[in-house]
Amino acid sequence: SGDLMKGKRGLVMGVANKNSIAWAIARQLHAQGAEIAFTYLNEAMERRVRPLAESLGAPVIVECDVTSDESMDKAFAAVAAAWTSIDFLVHAIAFTDKAALEGSFVENTTRQNFKDTMDVSAFSFVDAARRAARLMPNGGSMITLTYLGSERTVPNYNVMGVAKAALEASMRYIARDLGPRGVRVNAVSAGPVKTLAAAGISSGRHMLSFNRKASPLREDTDVRGVAGAALYLLSDLGRSCTGETLHVDAGFHIVGMPDEDALAE
Ligand code: NAD
Repeated sequence: SGDLMKGKRGLVMGVANKNSIAWAIARQLHAQGAEIAFTYLNEAMERRVRPLAESLGAPVIVECDVTSDESMDKAFAAVAAAWTSIDFLVHAIAFTDKAALEGSFVENTTRQNFKDTMDVSAFSFVDAARRAARLMPNGGSMITLTYLGSERTVPNYNVMGVAKAALEASMRYIARDLGPRGVRVNAVSAGPVKTLAAAGISSGRHMLSFNRKASPLREDTDVRGVAGAALYLLSDLGRSCTGETLHVDAGFHIVGMPDEDALAE
């Protein structure tokens, strides 16, 4: 532990359980002195999220379904009531129909699920960033979580990859808009991590083992590294860095073709 986040307050959106990437981030920020408010999706999620958030002394633990303007209004009002200003935002939210996460992208992408996936997984960051920025009169830092399926095709990732591309482009436009106000905005592109969201991807196990074998580090992405990148970007260590997509994936993203012996193991 240390004091890299001492005196900083912020909101973490996207904890579902102890395996959530957002939870790994929250713990690391808390260990560095941050005060953290949490949102959870619905009552079913609350039972798991509330005890976790309470264990970090969260002053605000509030429901927030990002597809509802009213729910977003209420959640950000609760944060504003507790604190007059915040310093950081973590957005770690994505969703699509399980049926869209397998097989053919071109065959399995419906109009409705395309829209819904974009809404939850990309627009929600635009909306949350706009609301959070109003609570950042002294500047601040925001991150979202993305995946390489935005830049390259990955089996079964499908419409989620398209939503992540929109999310990353949104991040850059938000960074451009908020930069003059001293707000930095970045994305962490994490390699595969075993979470509730990842369990929805039908080739999850193959993804994990292929990434492990083909990546330069020959290991799984360690969620502590993802949290470390978040800490860098959200603390003053990350000053001068904005509009960036930082890959934390054991180096997998630089590999055009894996070594012959790597895949044999
Ligand atoms: P997770 O299931 O723990 O987190 C996803 C969160 O999204 C959950 O807390 C869920 O409640 C929330 N959510 C879904 N729909 C919502 C809605 N309508 N309103 C509010 N919240 C909603 O899984 P995770 O893997 O920790 O995912 C966090 C982020 O990290 C996601 O954006 C995901 O795409 C991204 N990511 C994950 C991986 C991975 O391998 N797990 C890799 C790269 C990026």
